[in-house]
Amino acid sequence: MNLVLLGPPGAGKGTQAARIQEAHGLVHLSTGDMLRAAIASGSDLGNQVKEIVESGALVPDDIIIRMIEERIAAPDCAKGFILDGFPRTVRQAEALDSMLEKKSLKIDHVVELKVDDAALVKRISGRFSCAACGAGYHDAFKQPKTEGVCDACGGKEFSRRKDDNPETVKARLEAYHAQTAPILPYYREREVLRTVDGMADFDGVTAQIAAALQ
Ligand code: AMP
Repeated sequence: MNLVLLGPPGAGKGTQAARIQEAHGLVHLSTGDMLRAAIASGSDLGNQVKEIVESGALVPDDIIIRMIEERIAAPDCAKGFILDGFPRTVRQAEALDSMLEKKSLKIDHVVELKVDDAALVKRISGRFSCAACGAGYHDAFKQPKTEGVCDACGGKEFSRRKDDNPETVKARLEAYHAQTAPILPYYREREVLRTVDGMADFDGVTAQIAAALQ
């Protein structure tokens, strides 16, 4: 099974993708995580995209399409994958379809997480994660059980994404509405789009996604 998780920044795509990965044994592919890893490593790709990612704008389609095409060709993706943060433009959606078609594969479901813009700014602004294992936390909604200690690995260092500040969040939301939302009709026409209420709590959203994938 190959899935796309669609939704604005802060909709909970990463959290839900991690849960689906565990439940269905799929590979979680987050283009945002790949770009942040490239930036942290100081690679040519990382240097090329650093400023764009930190501004909240979208990285050019050609760069992203090449990156995903290489990743999907890796053997672990043969068991199926969850795309989180890709495609983000109609051109990326078309490129995805044609790269999968060459391998006789397809996207089986596209799940849209629908969330109000006002809630997103609040959700994103309080996010932080464990620097060692990446477990996600939130100032208002999910503090570690022991202050300053990661629940998952015991790590004591935490980090916040550079683009999780109110101005950049605004730019990211604008990019979503202008460039990514037009993908919804593309997938609706192909009858693979399922919309779930992303305002529900984490478990509620997970249950809705499980029902949508049946
Ligand atoms: P995310 O972690 O998905 O919120 O992505 C963080 C940032 O990475 C975005 O604001 C963009 O700058 C860039 N990015 C991630 N995925 C894509 C994509 N599919 N197309 C263009 N830019 C992307």
